[in-house]
Amino acid sequence: DYTYSPGRAPTDYINALAERRTVGERCPSCRKVYVPPRGACPTCGIATAERVEVGPRGTVTTFCIVNIKARSLDIEVPYVYGHIALDGADLALHGRIGGIPYDQVRMGLRVEPVWTEGGRYPDHYRPTGEPDADYDAYKELI
Ligand SMILES: [Zn+2]
Repeated sequence: DYTYSPGRAPTDYINALAERRTVGERCPSCRKVYVPPRGACPTCGIATAERVEVGPRGTVTTFCIVNIKARSLDIEVPYVYGHIALDGADLALHGRIGGIPYDQVRMGLRVEPVWTEGGRYPDHYRPTGEPDADYDAYKELI
């Protein structure tokens, strides 16, 4: 057990996750939306405060196929871990990609979160069935 004091912006993020929502914050200068929010723009060096809800759907920007079973995870290998740019976010989160054979995951794949009962964050992301995103739509988020 340990005590963690996340601060204002991460607290908003964690509280939104409890409602199965994802929020970020927009920089007032460069207008980028940071998810998860840290309370400041790392590029401009100024405070962020404008809360923005993003997702729940997103785009796989890059991924890797995991072939080594982690002792602490009950997930069969191989599985896919990817970077997912939620719609409206200017940073990609990471998460497991499921609901699709590992060798069919691809950059541009449109995904949505899958929550489990009592989960504090999405268990994994699965394909939405939408057409893949154009590379130009996410190339800055890789
Ligand atoms: Zn900025």
